[in-house]
Amino acid sequence: MFDVNQFVKVVLDTSALFGLEQVPPDWEAYVTEGVLAELEKYNDRRSENLLHTIKVSQATSGSLSKVREAAKGTGDVSRLSKTDTEVLALALELKAAVATDDYSIQNLASVLGIEFMPMSMKGITKVVRWNYLCTGCGKVFKEPQPDCPVCGSPLRTTRRI
Ligand SMILES: [Zn+2]
Repeated sequence: MFDVNQFVKVVLDTSALFGLEQVPPDWEAYVTEGVLAELEKYNDRRSENLLHTIKVSQATSGSLSKVREAAKGTGDVSRLSKTDTEVLALALELKAAVATDDYSIQNLASVLGIEFMPMSMKGITKVVRWNYLCTGCGKVFKEPQPDCPVCGSPLRTTRRI
């Protein structure tokens, strides 16, 4: 039976909010305080209009650590901002989907069993893991490091196959 109160719960990250003119009427939309702060940084005036239809919420430290743990597992931890982590943690908590065009957020969402909606409609289909390749000696590491423990050169991320 059709339930008029059946909204789609969606947590928006900054990229999704930028791409949104208005919140679809069947969305129960959320953002985190970090996303709001980023919008203010860019002086985006749309946030004032959009915020009438968007709820602001924060994730608990429990779900934040769950997201951080998952990010360590995939190697996305070095690509993930504090705001990104908050967005994922809130989605996890609210059992909401994530609207994002950010590749690392989409990657982690699939690891965490969170549904994601790419605003550009070109999302990834499989989970990507990252390697860390030394630009000096060429050694490959599975865990992120500040620089190469062997020769001290900077590392760059490469996709793990
Ligand atoms: Zn090295």
